[in-house]
Amino acid sequence: MKRLVVVKFHEPALKGKNRPMFLRRLASNLRRAVKGTGVKRVWRQHLMICLALRDDADWDAVRRRVGDCMGVAKFYLASKVPPDLDAVKKLLLSELPLHSFDTFRITAHRSNKRFPIRSGEINREMGAYVEELTGARVRLNGADLEIFIDVVSDGMLVYFDPIQGYGGMPVDSSGETMALMSGGIDSPVAAWQMMRRGSRVKLVHFHSHPLVDSSSIEKATELSEILTRYQYDAELFLAPFAGVQQRIIVDVPPPYRVLLYRRFMVRIAEALARQQGIAALVTGESLAQVASQTLENIAIVDSAAQMPILRPLIGSNKNDIVDIARQIGTFPVSIIPDQDCCSLFVPRHPVTKGSAKVVERLEASLPVNELVEHAVEQVETRRFAFSASR
Ligand code: ATP
Ligand code: MG
Repeated sequence: MKRLVVVKFHEPALKGKNRPMFLRRLASNLRRAVKGTGVKRVWRQHLMICLALRDDADWDAVRRRVGDCMGVAKFYLASKVPPDLDAVKKLLLSELPLHSFDTFRITAHRSNKRFPIRSGEINREMGAYVEELTGARVRLNGADLEIFIDVVSDGMLVYFDPIQGYGGMPVDSSGETMALMSGGIDSPVAAWQMMRRGSRVKLVHFHSHPLVDSSSIEKATELSEILTRYQYDAELFLAPFAGVQQRIIVDVPPPYRVLLYRRFMVRIAEALARQQGIAALVTGESLAQVASQTLENIAIVDSAAQMPILRPLIGSNKNDIVDIARQIGTFPVSIIPDQDCCSLFVPRHPVTKGSAKVVERLEASLPVNELVEHAVEQVETRRFAFSASR
């Protein structure tokens, strides 16, 4: 009997020419994810990817790593036995005592049609066997335990609890983006959602150190470390923003400052993205969440950039975003109090319907290109690599 992990993915993404690329990418990401956990081999087989486990494999670690791998819709730890029902019975005899259940169902699936016994018959025979063995009753809906038996080309897979993955596309299958990441709750979730769509995401954080302490830099660093789990390595660009802010407060009335901060962030991020060969930006904005996120102000921020600004959270409610932040592990870091650059020199009630004309007039008195170039020159880069000890 061999133990292996079987990984399933969403089939719609697999139709057409991209399938081989998608599968190769997913398999290579999985290989990277499970390094050091006792996985012997990773291979593709029909519409699944299999991972063979050594006897001493660390299943908890494998489960965590595979669960964090984008593109994995579902996976399970299966035992593989020779293709005959007696072998399945023998396995159940030793495995079932590990489960406690009063009701169960057998779900057989015969993907190898050369196997002579149909799935309906497998269900009946194995159902009768388990009833006799354990005294539990068959229940088709809402059973305590579901026993899966898949007949594949070279044997039978038996497993109990399929685990849900995040689905989506494997990282590195759909291009690179540059996410503007504050130390807040939303933008790390936005970056993560882009990773789930197969994008490799580079991160840029704006800070006003030394005008404020370095807490937001530390948070951005920790958040980058957490996000590295999902794409195996990451780059964080720390962009100094104090110079821009000091210039803005001289000439710009308080209600317009946040809008101008955002426009400068977008310009600096775009310049960095260009240097990196990246063609789209990402933010954590969500419609109407705060004053700077009205349609009018979003349009004004957009017009500072040439490249598309993607906003994966635009239609999400705050509590949904918080749920994801908790799930992916960023929430506890995001809620640590910090001194964010955007809270500097801004009024409590910034403009909600900014005027493009006013913005244009205000920026006319600023050395826009010079400020952007200066910030870009002073960017510090931090690199992160997925730690095999996690
Ligand atoms: P978040 O929770 O991501 O901070 P938010 O709801 O606080 O979002 P804003 O403060 O209006 O919203 O910021 C909007 C977006 O601008 C953020 O989601 C992020 O993409 C970007 N942003 C804001 N501050 C910074 C920063 N210091 N560094 C990088 N990006 C930032
Ligand atoms: Mg914020």
